[in-house]
Amino acid sequence: MSDNLVILKQCEAFLEGHFLLSSGRHSGGYCQCAKLLCHPALAEQVLKSVTEQVKHLPITKVCGPAMGGIVVSYELARQLGVESIFTERKDGDMQLRRGFTVGKGDRILIAEDVVTTGKSTMETVKVLTDLGAEVVGVGCVADRRAEDCDFALPVYAAQKLLIESYEPADCPICRAGTIPLEKPGSREQPNAK
Ligand SMILES: [Zn+2]
Repeated sequence: MSDNLVILKQCEAFLEGHFLLSSGRHSGGYCQCAKLLCHPALAEQVLKSVTEQVKHLPITKVCGPAMGGIVVSYELARQLGVESIFTERKDGDMQLRRGFTVGKGDRILIAEDVVTTGKSTMETVKVLTDLGAEVVGVGCVADRRAEDCDFALPVYAAQKLLIESYEPADCPICRAGTIPLEKPGSREQPNAK
């Protein structure tokens, strides 16, 4: 097991069990990167492996789509010694706001917590390239893309996670009958009333 996977499991950013996903499907794993990013020293350590992969690239800025990408962008930018900015959704559209500027000559690394289909990533790419910048790739904590995912950018991940999901009727974990189904997040609130 990689060092990064050990850390992701220890801080419960990656859980193994039997989970009911918001799509209604079941899975044997669940990834919640906020559980890593709330520990700055661990986030620094895990994201160092991304910095190692991208430090040879001529990156001028790191840009993370809100919310998930902001902390990852900040930490990668800190390690790379460049500026960290973020895009956010307003009226449904991804936008660059708050006085952040990018333009011709900027070579930008997109930062994400998890890359699954890359939908929000590609929306951010469009915002940045429309302003004249070049996007060099995506840095992320977890790469959850399916093997057949068609993605136009290089992905630099701290950890590759292959999490299969199943229709309830086809779920092998249900069939085995040993692990109760749970909603992700439901075991995270020991202080809840
Ligand atoms: Zn199941």
